[in-house]
Amino acid sequence: MSESRPDCLPLLEALTAFPTISADSNLPLIAYVQAYLAEHGIEADLIYDETGKKANLYATIGPKDRPGICLSGHTDVVPVAGQDWTTDPFMADRRNGRIHGRGTCDMKGFVAGVLALVPKAAQRTLSTPLHIALSHDEEVGCLGVRNLLAWLGDQPVKPAMCIVGEPTVMTPVIAHKGKIAMRCTVTGVECHSSLAPEGVNAIHYAADLVALIRRMAGRLAADGPFEAGFAPAHTTMQVGTVSGGSALNIVPGQCRFDFEIRHLPSHDPMPLVDEARALAETALLPEMRRIGADAGIAFAELVRYPGLATDERHPVVELAKGLSGANDVGKAAFGTEAGLFQRAGIPTVVCGPGSIAQAHKPDEFIEIDQLHRLETFLDRLLDRVTAS
Ligand SMILES: [Zn+2]
Repeated sequence: MSESRPDCLPLLEALTAFPTISADSNLPLIAYVQAYLAEHGIEADLIYDETGKKANLYATIGPKDRPGICLSGHTDVVPVAGQDWTTDPFMADRRNGRIHGRGTCDMKGFVAGVLALVPKAAQRTLSTPLHIALSHDEEVGCLGVRNLLAWLGDQPVKPAMCIVGEPTVMTPVIAHKGKIAMRCTVTGVECHSSLAPEGVNAIHYAADLVALIRRMAGRLAADGPFEAGFAPAHTTMQVGTVSGGSALNIVPGQCRFDFEIRHLPSHDPMPLVDEARALAETALLPEMRRIGADAGIAFAELVRYPGLATDERHPVVELAKGLSGANDVGKAAFGTEAGLFQRAGIPTVVCGPGSIAQAHKPDEFIEIDQLHRLETFLDRLLDRVTAS
């Protein structure tokens, strides 16, 4: 493992020092990047969210009149609360060939590498432009990038292709699952538990739905559909949280649970949601309303993003393979913004330094060797887009 100092290390240290947890503003980091780009003569557009406390950043290096290659990353990181860190999570700490710190792997390492390329790129004459797209609120459902993509849709030129630098140990990933997260709120009728038949037990009805979801998960595992390359190779479903009731001697009037579907890119998850709705509407609600007219079951969508499925023969896949030196491509179990780029008509692969196994954890880290591999990848990219 190389112990030499990657060019992007000072930038990674600077980015890590911004505590850009998704719940908080990312504007100080965005201002830092904007000023850094300006130093190298690169203008950036900021696309704010409706609160004005967060922004996406988009910049183009090279000719602005033609589509180029977009390098995309998110600026937010997952929380550190409740995690057992041995160092300050917002101070990049170098030890044993690794840089520790929140976001070093997911995914400020990639962003730092891209920024470290800027001074070199700004000095060249590019035949194909490089676009830099930085988003907010990826970790809470790929929220910010939607504004960025909507804004891009109104621009005269949008990227020809995109590389999303989520951690894949620099392996080009051409597909990932999509996700839909739902909240189900069951409203029953409270009463003293000695008179249970006069109430509507919200937990019991919620349990019927939870049991259905469990059966559906089993059916998906047994019957598919299946897609090779994914692990697991089928759509999955699970209930992740449940809460309800207030005391054992009260028939509970409320129960709420959250469930998610992580679906193969080609598998539409809505019929699965509809199956749960159908049980509620055709079987459970009529029974509940015989006792309480106000009883109800409400479904609300919490988060949804599409899967990614890029044709293995698309030039963006060839590009990422050539730059990374990889012979093979992968499929990822985790979600990214790449599916949204693809849906916006921008062919996309995921390829970035570090391993998802090191993300979101206490003492998150990226191997210095991975940063070197990223820098090689980006230097090769710069050579490709430089006018001869
Ligand atoms: Zn990420």
